[in-house]
Amino acid sequence: MIALVTGASRGIGRAIAERLAADHAAKLLLVYRSREDEAEEARAACEAAGGEAAIHRADVSDAEAAAGAVAACIERFEGLDVLVNNAGVTADKLALMMDDDAWHRVLRTNLDGVFYTARAAAKHMLRKRRGRIINLSSISARRPNKGQVNYAASKGGVEAFTRALAVELAPKSITVNAVAPGIIETEMSQRIRDAADKELKKAIPMRRYGQVGDIAGVVSFLAGPDAGYVTGQTIGVDGGLGV
Ligand code: NDP
Repeated sequence: MIALVTGASRGIGRAIAERLAADHAAKLLLVYRSREDEAEEARAACEAAGGEAAIHRADVSDAEAAAGAVAACIERFEGLDVLVNNAGVTADKLALMMDDDAWHRVLRTNLDGVFYTARAAAKHMLRKRRGRIINLSSISARRPNKGQVNYAASKGGVEAFTRALAVELAPKSITVNAVAPGIIETEMSQRIRDAADKELKKAIPMRRYGQVGDIAGVVSFLAGPDAGYVTGQTIGVDGGLGV
């Protein structure tokens, strides 16, 4: 398996990459935006888990850079079977206080970035007549928090995009699915966990936050041989929060 994971330098993306290495002995291109030292640590962890990995710096909100990452994977590993669109950001503010920059920054990374990489990857996958595209959505698409109109809109867009692209690519045996995490213990969720730990845990039917491995296992299934007939789905992995 040859896979490209965006936002693979830490958090959920790194766990996904390590899991693909462990489960599928994957060859991996780990795409990160800024923290090279963390990307390098993730690369070493993927190799220790049984994969082969290289790091690549790219901002997926830039169409050329996103296409360049896909091209780099195809050049380095001579192919691309699985694209995991995991890179994401937040810029929380109540809607009436939100400036244009916070709106566009989140939409550009979380939604435009998914389109740019998927478009480039799908061109290659269409020629091969196989492939898997897995997009990270969020519980916030359906059960938003205050201050997240930009983030909720981006992830709602990711889910609609996933269904629409799945229909286009299904005839060529390319599947497109999304995974919608609840609250997972990473840097991204630190602020809201610190602000409302007790209330959040009370709202989650399983009474605990998710771990990065909870997401990685589902992504590994969607990337693997048993998920070939699953497409256009968004799978919630949220301890029951989205029920
Ligand atoms: P983190 O903030 O821990 O990590 C984000 C990763 O994305 C980093 O590797 C970062 O790279 C990368 N990244 C950010 N912007 C860009 C960009 N423009 N181009 C390329 N890479 C970029 O996030 P999580 O691991 O928590 O989240 C991963 C995904 O899961 C996101 O899509 C998020 O929306 C989603 N999610 C997370 C939840 C949670 O509770 N944690 C809940 C629901 C969904 P670098 O550090 O190098 O800048």
